[in-house]
Amino acid sequence: MNVMLLGAPGAGKGTQAAKIIEAYGLPHISTGDILRKAVADQTQLGLEAKRYMDAGELVPDEVVIGLVKERLSQPDTDEGFVLDGFPRTVVQADALGDVLTELSKELTAVISVDVDSQALIDRLTARRTCRMCGAIFNVIAQPEVASGVCPTCGGELFQRDDDTVETVTNRLNVYERSTAPLIDYYADKGVLRHVDGNRDVADVWVSVDAALKG
Ligand code: AMP
Repeated sequence: MNVMLLGAPGAGKGTQAAKIIEAYGLPHISTGDILRKAVADQTQLGLEAKRYMDAGELVPDEVVIGLVKERLSQPDTDEGFVLDGFPRTVVQADALGDVLTELSKELTAVISVDVDSQALIDRLTARRTCRMCGAIFNVIAQPEVASGVCPTCGGELFQRDDDTVETVTNRLNVYERSTAPLIDYYADKGVLRHVDGNRDVADVWVSVDAALKG
């Protein structure tokens, strides 16, 4: 099963990707995670990507396309994968189509997680991530995480550098301009399924799972 999650920053793609991975045992390909690791490791890629990420801008297409090409050619993706945060532009979507054709693969489902824009701002600025296990929390919905300790593994929770109000606003504008057109792009290909993401994680998951089975 080759799945792609589409949706604005804060729509819950990462959270639902974790659910899909747990249920179906597929590898998670998150370009945001790959780039954040490169930044943390201070690689050449990380140094280049950081200024775009801190400003809420997209990293250049050729850089992320190269990363995804390499990742999709690894054997653990043979049984399927979950793409999260890629593609984000029509150029990236076209490149993905070419790579999948080369690998004789195709997308099984593109799931658009739809969330109202005010809710996105609230969610992003309240988001906390565990440095150790990667779990994602919301400090408003789960006030206990304000302590900075991960309830799952005891690791340290942090706020992403790009989850500040200013950067979030820019990321949402970039999404509307560059990524939202992919909804029509994949609808035209007949693989798009919409899920209402304005609900509890568990309820959204029921719909995502139904969309994957449908
Ligand atoms: P995310 O974790 O998916 O919200 O990504 C965080 C940041 O990484 C984005 O705001 C971009 O700066 C960069 N990024 C992640 N994926 C892509 C992509 N497919 N194309 C360009 N930039 C990306």
